[in-house]
Parts: sequence; structure tokens; C-alpha cells
Amino acid sequence: MKFNRITACLDMFGCPNRCKHCWIGSSPNGNLTVSDLEFVAEQFRTFADYLEIYDWYREPDYKNNYKQLWNLCNDLSDGPRDHFELISVYRIVRDKEYVKWLYSLGVRNVQLTLFGGAEKTDYYTGRKNAYNEILEAVEILIKNRISPRIQFFVNKDNIEELPFIEKLIKNLNLDERCKNFDGGFSFFIHQGSCCGENEKLNEFRLTPEDVNKIPEATIEYTKKHFNVENIMDVFGRTERELYDELLKDNSIDTFVSDKPVFYIDKDFNVYPNISAPENFWLLGNLKLDGAEIVLKNYKSSDSVAQRVRKTVPLCDIVRKTGDHESLKLFTKPDYKIYLLNKYCRNLL
Ligand code: SF4
Repeated sequence: MKFNRITACLDMFGCPNRCKHCWIGSSPNGNLTVSDLEFVAEQFRTFADYLEIYDWYREPDYKNNYKQLWNLCNDLSDGPRDHFELISVYRIVRDKEYVKWLYSLGVRNVQLTLFGGAEKTDYYTGRKNAYNEILEAVEILIKNRISPRIQFFVNKDNIEELPFIEKLIKNLNLDERCKNFDGGFSFFIHQGSCCGENEKLNEFRLTPEDVNKIPEATIEYTKKHFNVENIMDVFGRTERELYDELLKDNSIDTFVSDKPVFYIDKDFNVYPNISAPENFWLLGNLKLDGAEIVLKNYKSSDSVAQRVRKTVPLCDIVRKTGDHESLKLFTKPDYKIYLLNKYCRNLL
């Protein structure tokens, strides 16, 4: 059994935040060792033509040995890796070297997440002073010629904060300041998928009348970011419309790819990176089962969620778990995963 490429991401230290929108869910932080990371690489190596190893799938670079781990992941991988536009906000405001290290790796854009002003951002990030640290991070990035990209997870509870954010962006003169070093500031809003912690905020999901409350500049920034003509391409359609459409869809599907990405939690349980690592996505345990069984389970769609999607027609999943009366907005892919998760939870 050989895959074209395997990307294995080990949740070595978890995350300092507890974001209420987190699609990966909230689980206790681990404290794994370098040899744990080496063990993961060793397990997958013979099954991949190209292996890629990451020491995180929640907050990157969170622990003091981040440089050592970056180098080790490169050594354990079959080629150089890009540093994503995700960083540790926790670290950037505490470790002066960090931003310079990011720049040296070629990072020129960094994504930061706001939920409104200080009160909402601290609440939704699950950490006191998160808002102040994010604003401090913006300044550090710009000073070091890295463009911030602000994402805003919008729901019925924080939509009224958008004018404040627009004003903040204007007052901080972010567009011009990024242009000064040939960077590009961007800002966008979306709801996020309805997985993990964000599923618990389902009652606050936007309905069509809320879209009229989104200020014009926010719409323009968001359309530009996603490269779409219509803001509804970002927010999707009402659950009722999707329900009616998918009720006629008797397709089954498989999530199997020749280039899978796996999330490995601190206890070495392995999940495909399709939704939150919940038990019905579990493929096996690297320590107890080994990679061969985990990969076999993946390839034959043997996690509960994969098996359901492969054997139960979509219309049956929709009929059982969808809500025809709901006007909540979803994109179609997010809605399908949301219903699949609900369906699986009911089975267990
Ligand atoms: S969204 Fe990111 S920063 Fe927030 S809790 Fe999840 S992993 Fe951590």
C-alpha cells in the first residue's frame, strides 16, 4: 500500500487559545517529545512516495523549541515545506526573534482573527487580552514588512461589531501602511464550517436578513479576498434551499485521496483532516494499531463517518438530520459535512 503523498500533523502541544469557532475542536493540550515526532514519521515513511511532517495542527510554533521542531520536520520530510500564513500570536508578542525568523522563511502574509472589539475577541478566543495581543501583533508584523490579513468569524452575536472593525482598519491605516513596503493588507468575513466548537454556535448562524447588516466596505474586502462577484458565494444558501436540493441527491461518496492529510492527536489517535477529530472519524491509533492498519482503514473508508458517506445516500442523511424549516446559511460542502457529523453522532 503506497500513497503518492502523506502529510502527517502531530498535535504536540495543542493551543494556548480556546476559540469558540475552532473547527478542530477543543481537546487538552499535550506535551510530546522529539522522539514522538520521529516515531510518527517512521510509522508513515514506507507508505508514502513523499512524506511531509508537521509538529502541529492547532497553533504552530507555540513552544520554545519551535526552531528545532521546524528543522526536525524538514529533516523528517522528503522536501522543503512552506511556513503557512498561520502563526503563534502568543509567541509573536513575547519573543522578539520570532517575527524575524518568520520573515527569514519567506512569510510575507499572516492571518489574524478578530471577532469584534476587546470584549468579543477575548470571549471568542477564550483568552484574556487576546484582542490587545492581536493588535500588537499587527504592529510587529507591519514593522517587519509582513502584511496582516484579518479574518472575522461572523455570526448573529457579533455582526454588529463590523462597523467598529472597519473603523479600526481605517484608523490604523492598514492598506496604506502595507502598500508602503509593497505588501497587501486584506480583510474578510465568513461563518466558518459547522464543525468542532463552531457547531455549538449553530444557533447564531446568519440568516438572509443578516447579510443586509454587513457594511459595504466589509463586503468589498471579502469579495476581493475570495475573488467572488457575489457575497452570497461566501455565505451560501439557506438550509431550506439546500435541504430541498440535496433531498434529490442519492449520491454516495468517498473521502479517500492519494495525498491524504492526517491529524494525530496527543494520544496518537489518527483522523483524516476532513472535519473535527471526533470519534466517528477515528482511523486507529498509531501506537496500538500501527500505520498499516490506520492507512488500510482510511483507504477502505472504515472510519464510521467515511463508511456512512460511502454507503448511505446523501438524501437519506439529509432526511434524517436536516431541518427544512431552517433559514440558516451554509455553503453546500459545509452543510454536507455538518449533516454527516450529526448523522454519525446519532449512530453512536
Ligand atoms: S482556531 Fe486555531 S487558535 Fe483557535 S483554538 Fe483552534 S487551533 Fe487554537
